Amino acid sequence: MIRIEQVMRDERNFIAISRESPFYPDGKGGQLGDRGKIGGLRVLKVEERQGLYLHYLDGELEPGEYEYEIDLERRKDIACQHTAQHILSASFLKVADLETMSFHMGEEYSTIDLNAPFVINEVIEEAEDLANEVVRKCLKVEILTLGREGSERLNLRKPVSEKAEGEVRIVKIGDFDVTPCGGFHVENTGNIGLIKILDREKVKGSLTRVYFVAGKRALRDYRRKNQILRSISSILTTSVEETEKRVTNLLEDVKKAHSKLEKMAEDFAEFLSKHLPREQICDFSVISFKGYEEVGRFLPKFLGDDEKVILVLSLEGKVEVISKGLDCPGFFEYVKRRHNTIKGGGSRDRIVLVGIDPKELMEDLRDFLS
Ligand SMILES: [Zn+2]
Repeated sequence: MIRIEQVMRDERNFIAISRESPFYPDGKGGQLGDRGKIGGLRVLKVEERQGLYLHYLDGELEPGEYEYEIDLERRKDIACQHTAQHILSASFLKVADLETMSFHMGEEYSTIDLNAPFVINEVIEEAEDLANEVVRKCLKVEILTLGREGSERLNLRKPVSEKAEGEVRIVKIGDFDVTPCGGFHVENTGNIGLIKILDREKVKGSLTRVYFVAGKRALRDYRRKNQILRSISSILTTSVEETEKRVTNLLEDVKKAHSKLEKMAEDFAEFLSKHLPREQICDFSVISFKGYEEVGRFLPKFLGDDEKVILVLSLEGKVEVISKGLDCPGFFEYVKRRHNTIKGGGSRDRIVLVGIDPKELMEDLRDFLS
């Protein structure tokens, strides 16, 4: 039973407050918090604040005594990820003398920050190999409770926190790693199954953040990536092994086709520039084009220099007006006053309009110029 002393609410949830709680709070010692149920309501988040426990619930209840239920599968997963973190941190230390400056446990993946701006692939793989060897050795994970002096004789990976009072909780993984910690751990490294590093990146200027998953999360990740790769290879009608080469070749082909298209569009625009319909409005020769943006983009190159020319381009969902001689900002304001639903903008010699019929725009232009 859990005794709820008080219930408050914020914009989204009801918060059941107790003095003691079987639920491990979120963020304590960098760990993920417990989930489960209180009085049949779902626990969404647990916070510890000034000696009180705040349980965020998905419904309302009155203060009183309630049955609770802790999601043990989730706790097992947290223990798995977290013990994997101990093993990985120790592995990087042994393989390359890299220290873990901080770690973060996440719902999807976890990270450790190593004290080097770059970590080469060989080191990543060596540490990953060593960590998985420790998993396969099925080492016992022991929790020792010792006085500060006794614990300091143990060759700890990181020192006991200055803030720690009284007895110190030590986590000992066989003879591989001994470190003070208050979180959840598996009983045997074999329970972890698999530790997989997913990625790394440089952070805070001088550290390397290593992303990893363990246990069921690692299997889930492997399964998902295998599915993605199989699906891609099936789309490309090739084997998984050939996928990388096929994608590289495809991208090369796309690049070549694209530059060919650019050249063709430019040639076509040059040809069109001599044959497009023109309408004389006052001093201006208005030239209209309706078609592909790739072609329209090149028309100003062949027609845009003449101050007496106004180009009206209808390009897939928008209309562009380009002219060195027209008061483009003034015309834009004029059009906006007439059609208040249009969107767009522009500069001194070019405006882009969305949501207007090119025929209506031509009428606006005739009225504006006369
Ligand atoms: Zn721990």
